[in-house]
Amino acid sequence: MSKQGFTTTILHSDRRKSVEHGALHKPVHTSVAYGYSQSRQIAEVFQGTQSGYTYARQVNPTVTALEDKITAMEGGLATTCFSTGMAAITAFLFALLKEGDHFVASKFLFGNSNSLFNSMSKFGIDVTFVDITDTAAVAAAIRPNTKALFVETIANPCTQIGDLGAIGDLCEAHGIVYIVDNTMTSPYLFQPKSVKASLVVNSLTKCVGGHGAALGGAITVTGLYDWSNYDNIFDGYRKGDPRLWGMVQIKKKGLRDTGATLSPQAAHLLALGAETLALRQERSSSNAMALAKYFEAHPKVNRVFYPGLASHPQNDLAAKYYRTPGFLMSIELHDSINCFDFLDALEVVVISSNLGDNRTLAIPVAHTIFHEMGPARRTDMGITDGTIRFSVGIEDIDDLLADFERAFAS
Ligand SMILES: *Cc1c(COP(=O)(O)O)cnc(C)c1O
Repeated sequence: MSKQGFTTTILHSDRRKSVEHGALHKPVHTSVAYGYSQSRQIAEVFQGTQSGYTYARQVNPTVTALEDKITAMEGGLATTCFSTGMAAITAFLFALLKEGDHFVASKFLFGNSNSLFNSMSKFGIDVTFVDITDTAAVAAAIRPNTKALFVETIANPCTQIGDLGAIGDLCEAHGIVYIVDNTMTSPYLFQPKSVKASLVVNSLTKCVGGHGAALGGAITVTGLYDWSNYDNIFDGYRKGDPRLWGMVQIKKKGLRDTGATLSPQAAHLLALGAETLALRQERSSSNAMALAKYFEAHPKVNRVFYPGLASHPQNDLAAKYYRTPGFLMSIELHDSINCFDFLDALEVVVISSNLGDNRTLAIPVAHTIFHEMGPARRTDMGITDGTIRFSVGIEDIDDLLADFERAFAS
């Protein structure tokens, strides 16, 4: 991030790069291809000796403008955007791991990431899932062929938090690529670069976009990893600044060759969302804190999972690393309440599976997003049949509290 504040930097990011006609937003560029008057120029662009636009599967000006904003937010060196957050994670695996490699991942993981990581074994890439709240267990999982370590900042749905700084030290000591999925905190609450992350993943679909109106994902390179020590970088990409080699390979092999391209229309919507990220995060966090205290005091709630509560096992880590404890919260209802009936009684809160929306969303997780995982793995993750996950939005807090009062009373 530059010397100016988070929001100032994002609001004025496009304008500072001389946008056409003095437009305040980077326009939505829909051209798939770009014409050159000099053939030598297009050759130089292809060979990377000059920057420029060629074909929109790999690069587009509207998408580049969003990438620059994400890079600034993360305090990184460069960003590549993708059609979704999952496409970004897939691109990393596909571009930078090979048969015989091993990686370590948190066992408290976004369901689709968990499913994707399990699929990697058929390509000869092994994964070990660990309890990231236990740094000694993380250290014990590292093997001679471990190439990468993947963690999330706040786990979904039970909000576990690892000691991300201690894990960063471990990765540094072993020369392992440290990937932090920052989706649950967003770069406003946390910059993974501060805990020595090599790469940062964001699902832009969630709080960066914020309005639930566009899918998108991003990988940012922090500049802290020296890729000249990483033997999976192809010879052709071993040139220029070694801090960028991994990003070049992700852009070529992970984006250009797979075609998981973010559309310029989506990039525009996500960039509009990014302008108010800080404001929305402050509001959703303060709403979440108020709701967490309300639930904790409520006799019909058995447990509340929210990193802002003193009763949360990693409350100290949340306070140490994150600007606020965020928007993600889960509760376990008292056995006397049927979670489906409870959810159906809500009028303001929406029953929906997204996260980081402006609206407060709720979902019974065991029966939906973590259903495919099966009961054993759910138990291991702390999920019960009565667990309800909330993505707290920016509504007026009195309306949210009144909605829950009504649901408990019915
Ligand atoms: C949603 C999510 C993803 C995937 O993002 P999509 O844009 O939905 O593909 C990855 N990681 C986490 C933590 C998420 O919540």
